[in-house]
Amino acid sequence: MSKGHKAVCVIAWPAGHSRSPLIHNYWIKQYKLDAEYRREAVPPEKFVDFVGNLRANGYIGGNITVPHKETALKLSEPDDRARAVGAANTLWYDDTRLRSTNTDVEGFLANLDAATPGWDRGLSTAVVLGAGGGARAVIFALLAREVGRVYVINRTAVRAKALQKKFGARLRVAGWEETTGLLGGAGLLVNATTLGMVGQPALEINLRCPPSLVVADLVYDPLVTGLIASARGRGLRTADGLGMLLHQAVRGFQLWFGVRPEVTPELRAMVEADLLKKK
Ligand code: NAP
Repeated sequence: MSKGHKAVCVIAWPAGHSRSPLIHNYWIKQYKLDAEYRREAVPPEKFVDFVGNLRANGYIGGNITVPHKETALKLSEPDDRARAVGAANTLWYDDTRLRSTNTDVEGFLANLDAATPGWDRGLSTAVVLGAGGGARAVIFALLAREVGRVYVINRTAVRAKALQKKFGARLRVAGWEETTGLLGGAGLLVNATTLGMVGQPALEINLRCPPSLVVADLVYDPLVTGLIASARGRGLRTADGLGMLLHQAVRGFQLWFGVRPEVTPELRAMVEADLLKKK
C-alpha cells in the first residue's frame, strides 16, 4: 500500500446492504485513485470510540447509516444541512476538525434536476409523504429551492407538526384524506415513507391530478415502485429512488478525494444489477 493510499468506509450495524461500497469503488477505479472504500460493522456501544478515532483507524472520512446517523451528528461539526435534517450521513476532515453533512439534500435535488429538468420552475406547492429522516432532507431541500409551500402528510401527525416548528410557516401539515385534493393544485409529490418498499405495505394513492405533476419516490427497492409505475402509466414525469441514491454519493466522494464524480448510465446499470441480484 502506498503512502498516499486513502481509505473511506461506511459504518453500519449490522453490516447491512449499503450500496455505497459498490458506488464509491466504481468511481475510485474510474478516476484511477489510490484509494479504497470499505464496510465497517460497528455496534452502537463502540461507535463513539470508532468515530473518535476515525483517523487513527486509517480513514479520511466515511458514510454513516442505520442506526448511527443521529449520534454521528453529535460527534462532529455539522453543516447547516445535517443540522436541519437532524442526522449526518457523511463525515470528513477539515484539517483536524471532524465535519459532517447530510448528502440526501443534494441527492434529492440533483436527481430531480437530472430526471425532470425544470421541475422547480414556478413551483408553488409540493406534497411530501412522511416525516422521518428522508422527509426532513426533502423538506429542507425544497425550502432551500424556494418552493412556496410544502404540505407534509404523515401517519403520526405529531411528528409532522414537530417539523412545522422546525421549518416554519412555509411548511403546512395535512391529513392523508386531503392528499387527492392537494394534488389537484400541486406541482410535486414526494414519497418519503417506507410504503411501497420491499416487505412493507403498498402506498395506496389516487393520482387524480393535472398532467404537470412531477412524482418522486425515495424508495429504491423495488427499482420501480408502485407509485412510480402508476405515475408513468398516467404519463407523469418521475424521479426514482435509485437516482437519488446515486446522486447523494457525489458530494461525499468530492469531499474526500477532491474529484466531483459523474452519475453515468453505466454506474446506474451496475447498481441496478446488484439490486436485482439480491432477490
Ligand atoms: P424513517 O426515518 O424510519 O421514516 C419512515 C417514514 O415512513 C415515517 O414518516 C413513517 O411514519 C412512515 N411509515 C412507515 N411505515 C408506515 C406505514 N405502514 N404507513 C404509513 N407511514 C409509514 O425512514 P427514512 O430514513 O426517512 O426512509 C424512508 C424511505 O426512504 C426508506 O425506504 C429509505 O430507504 C428511503 N430513502 C432513500 C434514500 C435515497 O437515496 N433514495 C435516502 C433516504 C431514504 P411514522 O412517523 O408514522 O412512523
